[in-house]
Amino acid sequence: MPKIVSSSTISSSNFDEGQTDQRQKLQIYYCLCSEFLLVIDAELQLLPRRKTDNAIIIDNRQRTYKLTAEAKQPVILKRGEGFEKQYRYHCPRCELLIAYEMKEERKSGHYTYIVDAALTEVQGVAPSSALLEPTEI
Ligand SMILES: [Zn+2]
Repeated sequence: MPKIVSSSTISSSNFDEGQTDQRQKLQIYYCLCSEFLLVIDAELQLLPRRKTDNAIIIDNRQRTYKLTAEAKQPVILKRGEGFEKQYRYHCPRCELLIAYEMKEERKSGHYTYIVDAALTEVQGVAPSSALLEPTEI
């Protein structure tokens, strides 16, 4: 199956002019409902993962990306002895949980976390891990 990658979906206003070399390495990811949600200058599979929930870690100081998910009410989770407050981002079309951050203002924290198996690089095809029992989110 051919990989569907259209550079026309990238909003050039989010990237500096003259970054054509960078732009060729941009990766595009879709929600499981096939909504276009993320463009980033790295392959998600190669990024580090969080031990607690296997979420993919995006370092906001190193990566250039655009996530088009919608912010929802924050949630508070129990983590071992402590608690964690997550500001969550959902798919605007199907409302699937896509990502979360620890700070209220988007990208203001050091990291943004992409929920495991929430995104796929082939439109309309779920990653194999999407059908596994969910890890604790
Ligand atoms: Zn969706």
